[in-house]
Amino acid sequence: MAYGKVITGHVDPIEKKPVTHYRPGSSIFSIATTGCNWLCSYCQNHDISQRRKIEGTDMTPDEVVSLAMKSGSQGIAYTYNQPSIFIEFARDCGVIARRNGLFNVFVSNGYDTPETVKMMSEFLDCITVDFKGSAEPQFTRKYIGVPDPKPIFDTLKEIKDKTKIHVEITDLIVPQVGDNLEYATKLCRFIVDEFGPDIPIHFLRFHPDYKMMEFESTPVKTLEKHYEVAKKEGLNYAYLGNVPGHPLEHTYCAECKKIVVKRYGFDIQEWNLDGNNNCKFCGNKIPITGKLAESYKQNRFQFVF
Ligand code: SF4
Repeated sequence: MAYGKVITGHVDPIEKKPVTHYRPGSSIFSIATTGCNWLCSYCQNHDISQRRKIEGTDMTPDEVVSLAMKSGSQGIAYTYNQPSIFIEFARDCGVIARRNGLFNVFVSNGYDTPETVKMMSEFLDCITVDFKGSAEPQFTRKYIGVPDPKPIFDTLKEIKDKTKIHVEITDLIVPQVGDNLEYATKLCRFIVDEFGPDIPIHFLRFHPDYKMMEFESTPVKTLEKHYEVAKKEGLNYAYLGNVPGHPLEHTYCAECKKIVVKRYGFDIQEWNLDGNNNCKFCGNKIPITGKLAESYKQNRFQFVF
């Protein structure tokens, strides 16, 4: 019996999530349903996230996994809207996906409960938790419509303490209203204290969208300042996102500072790691899970439905 309504399915590079330290170069079958637990004024997917009607194609978990496999993807991403609002369906897909050798990724706002995290531990391999405006409470209230960012921090602690899920952090930096360096510092400090210095963090460039058309794209200099904050707080693997061609898209070895993974946008152009993901130049272990997928050279974009 079909009980999931899936609104869209695409194949994307895993780097688009963004995830750079888990199974790099993979193609990932990305699905969404309608609705969200947040009301972000900048939402790029507002057409599906803010829809009040539950719509989409009726699918069983077996059908989702079968489509993912047919598309040649190595994993499934639950993304475009908040995946925990359909976690029962995601879990049922994810369990079957794993049985068939696929991995599972959540792109999440982290606004979850301990019960949700418990369900995640049954099938999830990787999660990228997307902060917005560095979790400044004023930004969270005004542009997201939720009273307090604290549950996101609690979710991250819960994931760290109770699961083995690979975690990456994203922070959407919005000019003027969500680019406060004091909050970026607090966020980075929390991440280092809880997860240590090797967890990847991605500072994403905002583009005007939905109800925030009057704002400009984030100046690259602002993003670079956030990168500096992350480095100052001790994070070894900080990145800028949505700035193709910027040198801070690459992975630099934390020891010898050479480029170990060279990127352009979502593409991998150079891979300077040995078979154990050690830096080829100095032997330092780079905290990347999995080998470079063979699909990295292929076109990893595909519209499925
Ligand atoms: S949490 Fe994500 S999907 Fe939901 S409204 Fe915000 S940006 Fe859109």
